[in-house]
Amino acid sequence: MQIQNYINGRFSDPLNGQFLDNTDPARGKVYGRIPASGAEDCDLAYEAAKAAFPAWSMMPATERSAILMRIVEGIEARHEELAQAESTDSGKPLWLTRSVDIMRAAANIRFFAEAILHFSAESHAIPGQAINYTLRQPIGVVGCISPWNLPLYLFTWKIAPALAAGNTVVAKPSEITPATAYLFSQICSEAGLPPGVLNVVHGLGGNIGKAIVSHPGIKAVSFTGGTATGAEIARIAAPMFKKLSLELGGKNPNLVFADCDLEKAVETSVRGAFTNQGQICLCGSRIFIEESLYPRFRDAFVEKVKQLKTGDPSDPDNFMGAVVSKAHLEKVESYIRLAREEGGTVLCGGERAVVGGEFSEGYFLQPTVIEGLSAYCRTNTEEIFGPVVTLTPFKTEDEALEFANATPYGLAAMLWTQDVSRTQRVAEKIQAGIVWVNCWMLRDLRTPFGGVKQSGVGREGGWEALRFFTEAKNVCIKYA
Ligand code: NDP
Repeated sequence: MQIQNYINGRFSDPLNGQFLDNTDPARGKVYGRIPASGAEDCDLAYEAAKAAFPAWSMMPATERSAILMRIVEGIEARHEELAQAESTDSGKPLWLTRSVDIMRAAANIRFFAEAILHFSAESHAIPGQAINYTLRQPIGVVGCISPWNLPLYLFTWKIAPALAAGNTVVAKPSEITPATAYLFSQICSEAGLPPGVLNVVHGLGGNIGKAIVSHPGIKAVSFTGGTATGAEIARIAAPMFKKLSLELGGKNPNLVFADCDLEKAVETSVRGAFTNQGQICLCGSRIFIEESLYPRFRDAFVEKVKQLKTGDPSDPDNFMGAVVSKAHLEKVESYIRLAREEGGTVLCGGERAVVGGEFSEGYFLQPTVIEGLSAYCRTNTEEIFGPVVTLTPFKTEDEALEFANATPYGLAAMLWTQDVSRTQRVAEKIQAGIVWVNCWMLRDLRTPFGGVKQSGVGREGGWEALRFFTEAKNVCIKYA
């Protein structure tokens, strides 16, 4: 696949004429190239977005909504092509891209196309004196930067509210997984999105990503990715007084109490640890289990993990595909070595998965379960972002909370118990932006989404996203 930038409604190569290889991680082979865009491409994209802003922002919400709905139809019409492209580009199973990634991309756009029709702002009366009303105005040209783990899913999660609210966008997908963002720009063009409203520029984070963040005309940046990158973006953007939404890393705890429904807890915890090869910021990678339940949970959990198959992403029998890149595979492997050095025992996995034929060079790793580690060691506090999970027993609710909160991250948490009072106590005290009780990844797009501590700043989802992508202006009118 030869990928091009999408600027001002046209498809073009980068001005510097340079390209990067795009690799199929399941085969370990280069299968296409993508633009290695630079700051000059960002300037072009910005100029196009700036020129498109007046008409797009003044367009009635119903018309913007109608165009966004045509994009939804375009995604649905090309669902299978997008699912195949996402699977090839990222190594994730085709069953997952079909059932989650692409469906959710369409849902994101539909959700904000509908939400904008109901978005309203407050008014505050001072009886007999004045009325205040708040205008919620689009910001202007905004930047959207997304990661490789849920490529189209997270790309559209940012772009949809930005466009719905009347902004124009310069967007950059991860250079590791650019394929569906490219197909998406074709869909936007076919759907009649006016030129310049959305501009998609491909390339390295340190070049084109940095150019977006540093551009003086781009007034807000919505970023999802690693915590270190988020910190770098904040260092550049904060002194420029840009609005920033940072959705960053996670190291999510999963607390299993003895009174839980064991079967459901095991089944969902396995899914919550290894879906997408553990490369979801919401995966529960630290499982803390009440001491009295520990042996039963561990044995049932390991038994289920051993049944997970890894291999050809297009084979529906395989729960796991390849991890996203060679560099990432080696990073995850280094953490398995670290876990052993820190005294952990590998209960299953721990090695590359051997897959034959055309996949013999692919980046496959067995699902790995480790026990015997301190809750405070590096393996248990640093983000691994792969198919690696640790099991640790706890004695009391207080100890469970202490373990859960013992990382610099605070994105999501899972809790398994039948006790409503405990649910309320733990949910209050756990340091996380999202708490799932007796479930995982049950998403309602109206709810606030984001993390605390080093997992980010700001919230996405529902009105939060539309508020982020608008500026509030208060107008105070004194009565005559
Ligand atoms: P990175 O931080 O490496 O990259 C994210 C995006 O930022 C990519 O498009 C990347 O481009 C770009 N980028 C890199 N450096 C810069 C820079 N200096 N300025 C601007 N943009 C830059 O994250 P990953 O892609 O590795 O994604 C994995 C991370 O994302 C994990 O930490 C995960 O937890 C987190 N994540 C968080 C979520 C949340 O909602 N909180 C959801 C999903 C993932 P390029 O790829 O070209 O380097």
